[in-house]
Amino acid sequence: KLKRVLDDSSAQVKSNHNHPGNEILITQETLKTALCEGQLYLEYQPQMSLKKQQIVSFEALVRWQHPEYGTVYPDVFIPVAEESGLISDLTKNVISMAFQQLAQWQEQKQYWHVAINISAKDLLSMDLPGYLAECEAQYQVPAQKVMLELTETAATGSLAESLEILNRLRLRGYRLSVDDFGTGYSSLSKLHDAPFNELKIDRRFVSSLLHDEKAMAIVKTCAALAKMLGLQVVAEGAEDLATVKALEEMHCDLVQGYYIGKPMNIEQIKECYRDAS
Ligand code: C2E
Ligand code: MG
Ligand code: MG
Ligand code: MG
Repeated sequence: KLKRVLDDSSAQVKSNHNHPGNEILITQETLKTALCEGQLYLEYQPQMSLKKQQIVSFEALVRWQHPEYGTVYPDVFIPVAEESGLISDLTKNVISMAFQQLAQWQEQKQYWHVAINISAKDLLSMDLPGYLAECEAQYQVPAQKVMLELTETAATGSLAESLEILNRLRLRGYRLSVDDFGTGYSSLSKLHDAPFNELKIDRRFVSSLLHDEKAMAIVKTCAALAKMLGLQVVAEGAEDLATVKALEEMHCDLVQGYYIGKPMNIEQIKECYRDAS
């Protein structure tokens, strides 16, 4: 067993939220088992429209119900999935669960949209438009209900090729969001070249804007930039009312964060939004 772990260059030892101090080992093999045995599930975090003052969509966030470790969070296993080549299988799994949920909400006359996180690696390593088209047909859910959030955890291959795929997704009716804007590999040239609809300001700026003048300046500037580019602006990581008010003044369109709601399972959402929409 140990040898196999040592051979697996993508294996990573991580600390887990649920086991502070206890290291857990995530390998390609255990992640493969998780995918095969359906141990991954989605939680949904509400996004509120400031204009409508109501919940209009949810971001789907993947979790792993691990037989030994309990709930494992994506920051721990997405990097392993990306490095071991399992990310496109994981993404497919996430997409079909999200479509299934959209179909269920449609049936219950809840007109919520869903945002799905897509790894930069997926654009070139799988037929994303093809897979989405299969799900649309299977679940009878239109592309317009889906926002694809592009999290740029790694710079990938051919930019021209990625752009071509993003353009195809737009033509099919999907909307595209730049996640974690202001951090990592997200850059202004990407905003210029790619057909995005939405800019999502990273929570490290949003959650500190009331106490940090620089963070405030960054959020204001990002919101103004998005407006000038004709993009919808989402602020993630709003943890209190004063922050939400500040974001309203900056003309953010949507807010997401613990103040609006934490990521929840479907039962909790039913409970919370029984009379909504
Ligand atoms: P993200 O897409 O930026 O997702 C937002 C993260 O911020 C979530 O963490 C959420 O729980 C957390 N968050 C939301 N509001 C607040 C707040 O007010 N305060 C604080 N402190 N945190 C808040 P989570 O669920 O652990 O996800 C972490 C990251 O994992 C995501 O960041 C995304 O990059 C990635 N991820 C999640 N699900 C998927 C997936 O299905 N596929 C891929 N490829 N990546 C995923
Ligand atoms: Mg996201
Ligand atoms: Mg984000
Ligand atoms: Mg993030």
